[in-house]
Amino acid sequence: MNKTTLHRVTATLALALLACACWVAAGALSDRMVQQEMSATVRAERQMAASIVDNMAQIIASDLAMSRAIPATLAQMDLMQHALVESRHYASKPPATESERRAAWMGRPELAKVNNFLHDAQGFSGLDSVWLVNDQGLCVASSNATDDNSFIGFDMSERGYVARALLGGFVEMYGVGRLSGEPGIFIAAPVYADGFLVGALIAKVSIDRLRHWVSRAGTFVTDENGVVVMAHDGRLEYEALPDAPVTKMTVEERVDHYRREAFPQLHVARVGEQIRATEKWLPSAVANSFYSANGSSTPALYDERTGLNSGLSAHIVHPLTSWPELTRNHSRDRILVFLTMLGIVALAIVIATSYSRERRLHRATRDLAEQLQAANTLLSAEARHDALTGALSRRYFLDTLRHEVELARAAGTPLSVAIADLDYFKQINDRFGHASGDRALEHFVEVCRAQLRPSDAIGRLGGEEFGLLLPQTSLADAQAVLERLRKRFHHEHCAHLPDEAALSVSIGITELAEGDATEWILSRADLALYEAKSRGRDRSEVRPADSMPPARRPENSLTGK
Ligand code: GH3
Ligand code: MG
Ligand code: MG
Repeated sequence: MNKTTLHRVTATLALALLACACWVAAGALSDRMVQQEMSATVRAERQMAASIVDNMAQIIASDLAMSRAIPATLAQMDLMQHALVESRHYASKPPATESERRAAWMGRPELAKVNNFLHDAQGFSGLDSVWLVNDQGLCVASSNATDDNSFIGFDMSERGYVARALLGGFVEMYGVGRLSGEPGIFIAAPVYADGFLVGALIAKVSIDRLRHWVSRAGTFVTDENGVVVMAHDGRLEYEALPDAPVTKMTVEERVDHYRREAFPQLHVARVGEQIRATEKWLPSAVANSFYSANGSSTPALYDERTGLNSGLSAHIVHPLTSWPELTRNHSRDRILVFLTMLGIVALAIVIATSYSRERRLHRATRDLAEQLQAANTLLSAEARHDALTGALSRRYFLDTLRHEVELARAAGTPLSVAIADLDYFKQINDRFGHASGDRALEHFVEVCRAQLRPSDAIGRLGGEEFGLLLPQTSLADAQAVLERLRKRFHHEHCAHLPDEAALSVSIGITELAEGDATEWILSRADLALYEAKSRGRDRSEVRPADSMPPARRPENSLTGK
């Protein structure tokens, strides 16, 4: 595996790892999001369920309070008390059968008045029936006296609410009418006359009249035995709560009370743990409030208000309708968060890569600029100096000459200029080699440096010809200095040359004159050099300023040999 492949494999593995980390993080984040949303939803729905069930409890309490007031008020009336006191005379030994009793009592005018009154009272009070029983529990008067199934003559002493009222209690009880078969709430009030209990007044409100108690979806009402006596969903009626007291009643008791034997169990059970098995993100505090709602897959909230009047309880099973959407959102959120994270990571990678590439480019550009600068510096140094001897280049020497001319003119100081040419240099090359010639050139410049001032300039005009610039130096002084230099060159042996190599130089000297042009100065110096050469070499000649320059020596011009 070569280096590039290894690099690619590592990058792919790192990206895969990063994607996995994003997926895990997206899961944790979307869990958190759905948990918050679910907790908020459950809180709101729980409040809603509680307010519905509270409202139910209030309505039940106020309805029953109103219904209770009617028999209690009727029991206070003289008409009722009087009829019951009277009944003692003829009903203490009543006819044996029900039909005989009805026939006998229907004929009594004082009871007819009570029947009419009860009929009217039932009509305006919104009750289903109202009837009067004597102290033996026999019905003596009833709001339905004229009906075929009139209660008159019935022995009601066995009915719980009658028995308890005849013992002096005010009773409210759910039951199913034995004659009508209709369920309802039975309300009984004892009737007293002169301090003696003489009978009881019973009223019945049918369940159908109270159905508005369960007008909201999911609501139902149970009685004191845990039996659903009324439900928004009618199919739940006569189902029983788990472990309800009805399950412990004997068959006879059940039939006596409800006119039925079987009470299937109502399916309201906690399902939080089952749901958490698949939806692991669901917080257990929230899951614990989840109930199954009639086998539906959507969980529900459950709330109840127990111990209301008549032993009734109000309940609600409130389905969490937003559950499917929330669980759907959870999967969608995870994918969205994952893609967003991938996007951010990709962006970060792009930014980091661009940044490091930019840094690399910047570094490379800076290095190049530095190299360029160094090359420029070298080039400009090379352009200023002769590579072999280190003397000023021809061009730079001429620039320096022009500059010194200006300075001398401005300051009014003298300026001497000389041209030195090594004698018979061709022979040095020929005899000792070109390299030795080079050493001789270097040696000449070294001697110049030693003999001249630092402010003087030495330039290589070409080949073995050098320009010498002596600012603030008169012609006479210049000649003295250069004569010393010439002699020194002649006598000082160059260590790099063979002993027999004799070196000498001829020098032409002049000075700056008023109105001089730089070419004229150099021409005069050149002319002086020519004279030095002509007069035998190894000497210096002076050409003063007043001798105006003739044209330069054609074979030794300054513009090149
Ligand atoms: P003169 O005394 O008349 O000046 O004679 P000369 O031999 O010095 O003059 P000429 O012009 O005949 O020869 C100059 C020689 O200098 C020719 C050339 O090969 C040599 N020369 C020029 N530049 C260099 C250089 O850089 N190094 C070396 N070694 N020789 C050089
Ligand atoms: Mg020459
Ligand atoms: Mg020469």
